[in-house]
Amino acid sequence: MLNKKQIKNWLYRFGYDTDYANSPLSKAICDEQFLGEAKSRTAEYSAVFEEHRQASTPKLPLEIEFRKRAHADRSLLGNKGYGLAQMSYLGFPIPPGFTITTDGCRNYYDQGQTLAETIWDQVVAEIKLLEKATGKQFGSAPFPLLLSVRSGAKTSMPGMMDTLLNLGLNDETTELLGHATQDARFAYDSYRRFIEMYSSIIMGIDHHLFVEVVEEMKAAENVHHEAGLGLGALHAVIDRYKKIVWAHTGTTYPQDVFEQLRKAIVAIFASWNGPRAVTYRTLNHINDQAGTAVTIQSMVFGNRGTDSLTGVLFTRNPSTGEPTLFGEYLINAQGEELVSGLVTPRQITRQGRQAIQDKQASLEEAYPVVFNELRHLAMELESHFKEMQDIEYTVEQGKLWLLQTRNGKRSAKAAVKIAVDMVCEGKIDAEEAVQRIDYNQIEQLLHATLDAHQSIEILTHGLPAAPGVASGVIVCAPEEVAALSKTENVILVRGETSPDDIGSMAKAAGILTTKGGMTAHAAVVARGMGKPCICGARGITIDMENRLLLIGQTKLPMGSYVTIDGTTGAVIKGKVATVQQKPFPEFVTFMGLVDQLKRMEVRANAETVQDATVALSFGIAGIGLCRTEHMFFNVDDMRLFRKMILMSDATARLNSLRELLVVQKRDFKALFQTLHGLPITVRLLDPPLHEFLPHHPKEIAELALQLGCPLDEVAGRIEELDEVNPMLGHRGARLAITFPEMYAMQVQALFEAALEVEQVALEIMLPLVFDAKEVIFIKNIIETVHQKTAPHIPYKVGVMIELPRAALQAATIAPLVDFFSIGTNDLTQTTLGISRDDGAKFLDSYQQKGLLQDDPFVTLDREGVGALIHMAVVEGRSANPNLKIGICGEHGGDPRSIEFFESIGIDYISCSPYRVAIAKLAAAKAMRFTDVRR
Ligand code: PEP
Ligand code: MG
Repeated sequence: MLNKKQIKNWLYRFGYDTDYANSPLSKAICDEQFLGEAKSRTAEYSAVFEEHRQASTPKLPLEIEFRKRAHADRSLLGNKGYGLAQMSYLGFPIPPGFTITTDGCRNYYDQGQTLAETIWDQVVAEIKLLEKATGKQFGSAPFPLLLSVRSGAKTSMPGMMDTLLNLGLNDETTELLGHATQDARFAYDSYRRFIEMYSSIIMGIDHHLFVEVVEEMKAAENVHHEAGLGLGALHAVIDRYKKIVWAHTGTTYPQDVFEQLRKAIVAIFASWNGPRAVTYRTLNHINDQAGTAVTIQSMVFGNRGTDSLTGVLFTRNPSTGEPTLFGEYLINAQGEELVSGLVTPRQITRQGRQAIQDKQASLEEAYPVVFNELRHLAMELESHFKEMQDIEYTVEQGKLWLLQTRNGKRSAKAAVKIAVDMVCEGKIDAEEAVQRIDYNQIEQLLHATLDAHQSIEILTHGLPAAPGVASGVIVCAPEEVAALSKTENVILVRGETSPDDIGSMAKAAGILTTKGGMTAHAAVVARGMGKPCICGARGITIDMENRLLLIGQTKLPMGSYVTIDGTTGAVIKGKVATVQQKPFPEFVTFMGLVDQLKRMEVRANAETVQDATVALSFGIAGIGLCRTEHMFFNVDDMRLFRKMILMSDATARLNSLRELLVVQKRDFKALFQTLHGLPITVRLLDPPLHEFLPHHPKEIAELALQLGCPLDEVAGRIEELDEVNPMLGHRGARLAITFPEMYAMQVQALFEAALEVEQVALEIMLPLVFDAKEVIFIKNIIETVHQKTAPHIPYKVGVMIELPRAALQAATIAPLVDFFSIGTNDLTQTTLGISRDDGAKFLDSYQQKGLLQDDPFVTLDREGVGALIHMAVVEGRSANPNLKIGICGEHGGDPRSIEFFESIGIDYISCSPYRVAIAKLAAAKAMRFTDVRR
């Protein structure tokens, strides 16, 4: 059974008139301090928080007054309910209503998908209060109360769950509404909309059947817009709607308004687990247990004539981040029309209208009083939330109502600009700014844009809905995207998108629609996904029958290439070249904030001047891993390297080592010069030999020819070197034990190169060691060469910890070296006993069956490999307090692994050059865990 407090917790009221406002708030608050702390943590922590919250709620029987609702809890009220509660707290004009919290949704599922009577009783009681607040009556005369019933999870999932408007209309109340408003046309238009929504959402009838009826009626009446349909036409439409409902269900939809409401609540709870919502949650890593709230409000109408309108507005430009209002509106319409993208909306500002050369008057020009009030409220909301707001509003017969406010989705560029601007405006601090940017956004900013030095054929333009450039094959059927996207980049081309397309949008490289505006579904979703998107490219006709696009005189068959530039709105023929974006000023400032906040150094893995230069442009602290065997990747050097490996007699090998010395010295010198004294960790040879030798007879013959050696000799030596298990074979430090002259050559090249440059901070690293005696042996080789070559050049020596035994021996190895660099690739391979080359074949199945959460080669296995690393850190440091410890495996560029490295006090991470910015951001974000974890 449900206890009284639980029932109260399910309902949260935001009031309107004073009476309503003074009623006690039916909401318990939880431990505020814990809430504040926990809210800023990651999903992993929110699970703990959720447990704590659930445990603590019953113990805190605190009820707060309505006006103190600033304490509202977003996870209970959902994003929409939370925004409304806040606006109510601020005294803003919102239609009165209440929210059934996410606890209600969880209860619905706990009870086997039934709405508990206790909750329903509370809803009915709330409706009575709502009637009192509005002076209207639910389901009866003289003025029927109509409701909007909306879903709303904690994390906004635009369009993914159901919403019902105009609820409370039936044959009788429609007639009453017509009398009460003296506008029968409006009443019947609302009724038609309600039947349409109710029948498709609750009764599962295909929405397009209703759209077709309206389209036919518009054609018959010779009108372009639904607003042109007269009362007679609306009656006819409603009759046909009722017939569709009857034909599909053998029943009519309920005339009882309470039954309508109950079914609507249930439908919204059920839509939490609908396919669209589930896909969206999977894509966005949203907790399945979070549930949706249901917000029930008195309806206001944007479709009551030319003094009524509806619109959306962002407090800053969501594409560029410019601090100017940005939004659209439709006269005499309801909000759903705007979101559907079926009609072209007008701009709210004059500037916005001019930017897209729209001839229709902006809100600022056509309705200046409303515009000014809206602007004022919008700016207040932004200041209150300290975040860019996405606001839905409606004007009913001249009166402005705010229907929703939430943090607006934005492009990556806008996100960075807004975060930096808000720091400058004193709205947020640097830590908050850093937390607001996610890794995908940084990746997008490092993406390419169109190369201006090429001729391109622009086919048409649409609205630049989400920035970035993508080339791909044209696909117009969403169901074809999944298969094609495995082999090709896909541009999904649609009239407009709907939430059902979310899966295919996620797989497409870019999205192009022929209808809709900048706030249409496609635009909002693409922006959030960070995909280039063009909306409303009206010059394009999709010919599904002949599987082609018609753009002016051009016919493009599906499957042919187009490029979309979501920054300019240009649709371009074919594949085109792109260039890397130059960092914009706010990006540079943002990375400066990141640098200030992070503790760990970030280095790059690089062995060429080109990679080092890219890495330097991201502001690295040095090179953390120079894999010397990778320096032989060009054809000539590879030939020399192979020759050296293949020489079985010592003299011949020494000769080829001499040749290699020249090459190595040249390359080391170039790297040292590029780094201008920044540290460089040069790892001595670690080639799994099989990777460097040919295996096919044709290649072996070619190599023999190149080397001028008899074929059978070369083939014989390759066979001799062949290993059953090369990854665990003759590689790393083991090479130095058998062929000390190889490492001696490399060290000589290093010191000779160092002698020829002005400054260098040289760190020599030994791979794949497992014992202190190995380290002593190799250090002797190094020191002997050092004394001979450049005794006055300082250098450091370190080892890679990439074998479990090396980690276990950390205390004996640490006193011999200056640093440890943890090779998490090999350490993962050898700790799990899973080949890093073959693991992918079965690791997928582990993940699918829930046996592993992540691929351990991507995100560090904290419990196993992480435990070994932690032990090596603690024991290594206690044996050598000056020991510096870094990470140089791929995990050094993985945010979740970086969070762990921060928590165990790693000194630096090293990753590939293009990951540097992400690694830095992860290191900065991880600082919020530092005090908690260590
Ligand atoms: C590692 O093993 O983590 C490492 C950096 O070395 P490599 O990938 O070259 O084996
Ligand atoms: Mg390794």
